Amino acid sequence: MRYDVVVVGGGHAGAEAAWAAARLGMATALVTMRLDAIGCMSCNPAIGGLGKGHMVREIDALGGMMALASDRGGIQFRMLNRSKGPAVWAPRAQADRVLYTEAVLDLLRSVDGLDLVEGTVERVLAEPVVVGETVPGGPSLAVRGVVLQGGMELPCAVAVLTTGTFLRGLLHCGPQQTPGGRVGEAAAIGLSEYLERLGLVLGRLKTGTPPRLDRETIDYQQLVAQPGDDPPVPFSFLTRSLSQPQVHCWITHTSERTHEIIRANIDRAPMYSGQIRSRGPRYCPSIEDKVMRFADKSSHQLFLEPEGYDSPLIYANGIPTSLPPDVQDAMVHSIAGLERARIVQHGYAVEYDWVPTDQIAPTLETKRVRGLFLAGQINGTSGYEEAAGQGLLAGINAVARVRESEPLVLGRDEAYLGVMVDDLVTRPPDEPYRMFTSRAEYRLHLRCDNADARLTPVGRRIGLVDDDRWQRLTAKRTAIEALEAELSARRHQGRSLAEWLRRPEARIQDLRTLDPALDVAAIPPEVIEAVEIRMKYAGYLEREQRLIDRHRQVESRAIPEAFDYQGLRELRCEAREKFARFRPRNLGQAARISGISPADIATLAVYLARPLP
Ligand SMILES: Cc1cc2nc3c(=O)[nH]c(=O)nc-3n(C[C@H](O)[C@H](O)[C@H](O)COP(=O)(O)OP(=O)(O)OC[C@H]3O[C@@H](n4cnc5c(N)ncnc54)[C@H](O)[C@@H]3O)c2cc1C
Repeated sequence: MRYDVVVVGGGHAGAEAAWAAARLGMATALVTMRLDAIGCMSCNPAIGGLGKGHMVREIDALGGMMALASDRGGIQFRMLNRSKGPAVWAPRAQADRVLYTEAVLDLLRSVDGLDLVEGTVERVLAEPVVVGETVPGGPSLAVRGVVLQGGMELPCAVAVLTTGTFLRGLLHCGPQQTPGGRVGEAAAIGLSEYLERLGLVLGRLKTGTPPRLDRETIDYQQLVAQPGDDPPVPFSFLTRSLSQPQVHCWITHTSERTHEIIRANIDRAPMYSGQIRSRGPRYCPSIEDKVMRFADKSSHQLFLEPEGYDSPLIYANGIPTSLPPDVQDAMVHSIAGLERARIVQHGYAVEYDWVPTDQIAPTLETKRVRGLFLAGQINGTSGYEEAAGQGLLAGINAVARVRESEPLVLGRDEAYLGVMVDDLVTRPPDEPYRMFTSRAEYRLHLRCDNADARLTPVGRRIGLVDDDRWQRLTAKRTAIEALEAELSARRHQGRSLAEWLRRPEARIQDLRTLDPALDVAAIPPEVIEAVEIRMKYAGYLEREQRLIDRHRQVESRAIPEAFDYQGLRELRCEAREKFARFRPRNLGQAARISGISPADIATLAVYLARPLP
C-alpha cells in the first residue's frame, strides 16, 4: 500500500502529526518502535505550565489532540500565576501516565484512515528532484518512502520524522552507558546514518530525568501538600467540566547535606567527568549542575508528583541527575521526608542526535529533501508540548505538500506555536529549546483564554475544526459581544458599568451591587473571564495591537523563495552566506537571524523594493 503520509515515531509529536494528517483525509501510517509506548511521557507526568500550557490551548484551538488527552488523563489541574496578569496565566495538569497514554491511543484509534504499525524505520528513500522543478537553494531530493528494519518498505508521498531522544540514544547513569531511547527502550541506530547520507547534518544534545520513588516509603508528615484547583479548569475548549478526583502533590527541599554529598561526588557525574560532552537545557539543569552553579544556595525546592491514581511511583521533580546510583540513594535520603525513601528507578541522562534547524523551512519541511518533515525533539526542542505543537504543524503541512496547497506558517503575533517555529528557523538552538512566555513579544494578545478566538478560525479553514468546536466558538463570541454591549449600555451614577469594571479591583459579579438588574448567573465563566480581560486591559491591548500592526508591515515584505543572494554584492559576506543558508521568507525573519545587522536588512530591503527583472 502506498501512503500519502508516513509518520515515524509515536511520541507527542508523532501522535499529533498522524492525528492531523489522517483527520484531513490522508492515507496515513504511524510507524513506531513500540505500539504500547504511543503517547508515552518519557519524563515528568505533567502537561502544561508557563508557555507550555499556552501551546496546549493553541493545539486544541487548531483541532489537535493533546488537550483532549490531558483532560482525560489529568489527575490534578491548576491554573498557574492566577495572582499575576492574564497574559501569564497558564493551565497545568498532573497526569496519570497510564490514563494519558490510553487516551492518546483511543483518540488515534478513533480516526479513519490511520494505520498504526510497530517497527523501526532505518531508511528514508529519496530520489532526485526532476530537472526543471529545482529552484536555487531548493530541495534536490524528494521522499518516496521509508524502509523498516527487516526490509519492509512503506512507499509514501511525505514522511514526518519525530524520533525524539531515540536517534543513536545513549543513556548515562554514573559511569554506566547503555544504548537506549529512554529507560527500558532500545535506541534507533540505523536512521541517523541514512539522514546523513541524504545530506542532513546531525548534532548531539542531552537531557536528564530524576529518580522515581516508592510512594509507600515517603514520610508525608514532613511535606507540604499542594492541592489542585477547585473547581479544576480543563485544557480543551471542548471539555465542559472535569469530574475526576484530584490528587495532591507534595513539596520538600534539598538540604546542606544533599549539596555536600553532590560536591563530594561531582567527579563521578558524567557531565563533569567529560563522559557527556553535548549540551543540556540550562533552564532545566541537573541537581549537580544547580549545586555547582548556584553554590550560595543552601537548598532547592522539589515537587513530589504522583505518577497516577494506582501507580506506586512518585516522580521527584527538581532533581534530575545522572550521578551513580549509590550517590543518588545518599542524596535522596538527605532530603526531608525522604530519609527512608526507596528509589525504584534511578535518574539518568540521555544523549541523542538532532537536526540543527537551519536545515528546515518554517513549514518544518527539510530544505534539502522535499516531502521530509521534522517535528519534536529531533528539532532540538525539549518537552511534550513543544513536540506536540510541531507535530500538529508538520502534519498539517505534510498534507499541504501532498495537495500542493498553501502551507500553514503561524506568525509571532498569532501564536506561541508561531514564536517557537520562528525561533527555531532563525536561531537554531544551542541547547534543548523550551517555551517561556518571555519568548513572545505580544504576550497580552497570545493568552490562553483567547487561543480559540485566535486559532480556531485557522483550524476551520484547514479542515481540522469540526462543527461542534466551531459552534462553541461562535456561541462564545456572541456571548462576549452581548455582555460587552450590556455593560456599555447599563449605567450607574452617570458612568457605564464597563467604566466601573475598569477599576483594578472590580469584577463583573460585583457590578450587580451597582445594578441589580444585571444578570450574570447564567453566563459561562469563560465568557465572564474574557470580557473582564478585554475591558480591563483595553488600553494595553490597543497599544500592543499598534506594535503588531507595525510588525506585520515588516513581515509582509516577502522574499521570493529562489532569491539569489550571491548576486547581492553590497551585502556583507557573512550576511550573504546566512541569508542563503536560512532562506528567510520575509524581511522580519531575515532581521531575526543571529549576526544580521540593521544595515544588512536595509540593503536587502532596497533590493526587494526594486522591480523584478
Ligand atoms: C530522560 C529524559 C528526560 C527528559 N527530560 C525532560 C524535561 O525535563 N523536561 C521536558 O520538558 N522534557 C523532557 N524530556 C523530553 C520529552 O520527553 C520530550 O521532549 C518529548 O517526549 C519529545 O517528544 P517527541 O514526540 O519528539 O519524541 P519522544 O516522546 O521521544 O518519542 C519518540 C518516538 O519515536 C519513536 N522512534 C524513534 N526512532 C524511531 C524509528 N527509527 N522508527 C520508528 N519509531 C521511532 C520512539 O519509539 C518514540 O515513540 C525528557 C526526555 C527523556 C528521555
